[in-house]
Amino acid sequence: MRVAERVQVSFLGGLGEIGRNCAVVEQGGRLVVLDCGVMFPNAEMPGVDLVLPDFGWLVERAADVDGIVLTHGHEDHVGALAYLLRDVPVPIYGSPFTLGIARNRLEEANLASSTQFMSVADGERRTIGPFDVEFIPVTHSVPYGFALAFHTAQGVILHTGDFKLDLNPVDGRRTDLARIGQIASTDGIRLLLADSTNAEEPGYTGSESSIGASLRMIFSTHRKSRIIVACFASHIHRVQQVADAAVTSGRRIALLGRSMVKNVAVARELGLLKVADHAFVEIEKIGGIDPGQLCIISTGSQGEPMAALSLMAGGESRWLDVTEGDVVVLSSHAIPGNEWAVAKVMDGLARKGAEVVHAGTAHVHESGHARQGELSTMLSIAKPKSFVPVHGEYRHLLRHSRLAIEMGVAASEVLVCEDGDVIALSDEGIDFDGEVSSSYVFVDGLAGDVGIGVLRDRRVLAEEGIVVTVVTVDRKRGELVGEPEIVSRGFLSEPGHEDVADEVRTAVQKAVEVGLGEGKRDQEAIRRIVRRTVGRLVNERTRRRPMIVVVVVEV
Ligand SMILES: [Zn+2]
Ligand SMILES: [Zn+2]
Repeated sequence: MRVAERVQVSFLGGLGEIGRNCAVVEQGGRLVVLDCGVMFPNAEMPGVDLVLPDFGWLVERAADVDGIVLTHGHEDHVGALAYLLRDVPVPIYGSPFTLGIARNRLEEANLASSTQFMSVADGERRTIGPFDVEFIPVTHSVPYGFALAFHTAQGVILHTGDFKLDLNPVDGRRTDLARIGQIASTDGIRLLLADSTNAEEPGYTGSESSIGASLRMIFSTHRKSRIIVACFASHIHRVQQVADAAVTSGRRIALLGRSMVKNVAVARELGLLKVADHAFVEIEKIGGIDPGQLCIISTGSQGEPMAALSLMAGGESRWLDVTEGDVVVLSSHAIPGNEWAVAKVMDGLARKGAEVVHAGTAHVHESGHARQGELSTMLSIAKPKSFVPVHGEYRHLLRHSRLAIEMGVAASEVLVCEDGDVIALSDEGIDFDGEVSSSYVFVDGLAGDVGIGVLRDRRVLAEEGIVVTVVTVDRKRGELVGEPEIVSRGFLSEPGHEDVADEVRTAVQKAVEVGLGEGKRDQEAIRRIVRRTVGRLVNERTRRRPMIVVVVVEV
């Protein structure tokens, strides 16, 4: 019997966390990257702007990479493109809207002109490296998402991308279950990789178009108020429904936030957002417009500190002051980790006198991800031989794996993978097949990669503060010059801390003199003595472990 080539899938991110989705499909030594996303930092990552997958392994194998295929334009799927493309310059494939978003990001990184954008239409098939890749329409909270079917030597690998089953989507473009069923009944689906975000939620996600009615209701009950709606800038279907509600109630629309302006421009250019030119008014010109005739669509629904909505809440917006009578609608759901920031923004707006409407008080948001009913439907139509849940925190993946078994996938064919896992499909079946790095790569402004050590230091500084001790030593004479200097920040409040400081100073002086007496004159030895003395005493007196920095000055 002829042996078919093995096919491997490596997961660089997105499994066991929400964000930085990135997988690699490999056959015969050739690689195709599937999505290239970022993760947003959490409270344990102070000062970090973005978290990337570790592309080290891909960079090493740059010559083997044939392309990057994109399921859709969300940041957790395209946000890291610039960081990969600068080292692995390969063509990127996606729908025109996805590529439009990607192009904006790559322009900011000066990589757009050197990147090959391969626009793909619904249902199209492209040969990319060793694979025949089919782009199947799915509905999601951004226009023109794809599921991807890789026709491989080991059969079809279907990756759902982020999806929901919305029978009445705003643009009429439904998840193409018919095509998935057709593949299942002809070639068969060897392996299904499916979105697990809402795997813990029973039932079905509501239709996006159901939001329109509540928006119209809000607009009609606040005829005299200025209305500000915040949502994801890429959620063009939401923007469409807000714009429709605004136009119907006789309002003009101003866009606020750089990504909102850019994404709306891309969507209008592609005919995905249908709003008449005259409905828009530039944000610079809203001053002269009656509040009841104005609607502002803004970024910042996740409480991002520098986004338009946060600036409004803090009274720092260049363009408008939120005041009594304004209505602010957060047409969104906080991504895990952002709840606190979102609550703070809502409170800030309420303090300014605005009426704040959010998903907890009105039907102003629907998820873009399939719930259990839809996930079961996908499983029953795709009838995969093997199943790996993707896109979710660990418990989402686990719940989804159980769902697959309940839907008839053999338990031995279901693998719960995490970041860094590699799986292989061969004539023998499916199995784990080694690991790749799944390290977090932290991006901090222009500084680029800050290591895990830097973050550890930042956490210690944030939680315990710092004590700096400066000792000056006359090396030739083997004597301490003057008194040791103790400076602390974020440690103990100034009054009351003199006692400890005095005690530390005396103890350091004594210890260094003893050390010098014993002939320990080199900087490193003295530094060690000081560090040990300060550390022990501070911990004894305060039960705390601040960062201890020792500076030895030689004269
Ligand atoms: Zn998404
Ligand atoms: Zn996603």
